[in-house]
Amino acid sequence: MLDRAERGHRKLVEIKGLKMYFPITAGIFRSKVGDVKAVDDVSFDIYEGETLGLVGESGCGKSTCGRVILRLYDPTDGSIRIDGVELSDADSGTLRKLRPTMQMVFQDPQASLNPRMTVAAIIGEPLDEHSRLSKAEKLDRIYELMDAVGLNRNFANRYPHEFSGGQRQRIGIARALALNPKFIVCDEPIAALDVSIQAQVVNLLEDLQDRLGLTYLFISHDLSMVRHIADRVAVMYLGRIVELAPRDALYDRPMHPYTQALLSAVPEPDPEIETERKRIILTGDVPSPANPPKGCNFCTRCPKVMEICHNVNPPFRELEPGRFAACHLYEDTDTTAGKTAAQEELTSIQQGV
Ligand code: SF4
Repeated sequence: MLDRAERGHRKLVEIKGLKMYFPITAGIFRSKVGDVKAVDDVSFDIYEGETLGLVGESGCGKSTCGRVILRLYDPTDGSIRIDGVELSDADSGTLRKLRPTMQMVFQDPQASLNPRMTVAAIIGEPLDEHSRLSKAEKLDRIYELMDAVGLNRNFANRYPHEFSGGQRQRIGIARALALNPKFIVCDEPIAALDVSIQAQVVNLLEDLQDRLGLTYLFISHDLSMVRHIADRVAVMYLGRIVELAPRDALYDRPMHPYTQALLSAVPEPDPEIETERKRIILTGDVPSPANPPKGCNFCTRCPKVMEICHNVNPPFRELEPGRFAACHLYEDTDTTAGKTAAQEELTSIQQGV
């Protein structure tokens, strides 16, 4: 088990150039006429024992990103390495062996639990699939998991509908923990819960992380909760990561115009700061991932858009140690020519080279 000070030295999850395109078909022969680019060239790492928050508006591709990392979908392109093992092209046998190390906690505990199974059967299902425990050993393990997530053992033979939303999410977390995973994708785990219960579930996830040395990808649209739980935060817009930074750096000094707009909408608990808060209102709708704009994918809504943004896709690069963003505002100039690499590219496009 790692304590917080020891965390962050080893990359457990390495994502490079990940793409997940869903084909659009039309006509009686269902021929392909395009792609929905749900995840489009995404790269990031998650260090052992850390929580990486993944935030963005609904439909930006964050849940798809989490699912493709766990190979619930077959990626279109790119590399997924978890604990040194390449998963992007792993066959079903290899994936089955790796399943115990990587698990998911779903958004809607009601929908993700089989209503016809008892709590013991739900939590014990992964053990049936992946272990050879005797009946008594399995029951011991189920009780141990129920204790770990704060569920009363006496409820092991009850059904999901007999529990509250928060308790159902605890059942989902116990099931995810059954095989001692290293990495858990938490996909909006508190979005379907009452506000009063949300903090309890987040505290449970933090407590389990400390005790078991877990690594989380915490997907959420709730920026206040991500600020509470995440060590680093990645911001996603229209299938791409636009900024990634340590939590405090990102919340104190967001660099990408989209992150600035997102954070300007978060209310401040301090009334004095709240009265001075200036909200950045974005105009226009989020473009369709089936037809993203040319150049920077935020160019149709960005308050700081420049000519270059409509033509050249800004590279996602490290601007300061540990801080990454994709924006032409932060391009280095090439001192000999007095132009950035992106400006050179724009000139080439304009000259038709
Ligand atoms: Fe805005 Fe241009 Fe930066 Fe995109 S590259 S976020 S359009 S300034």
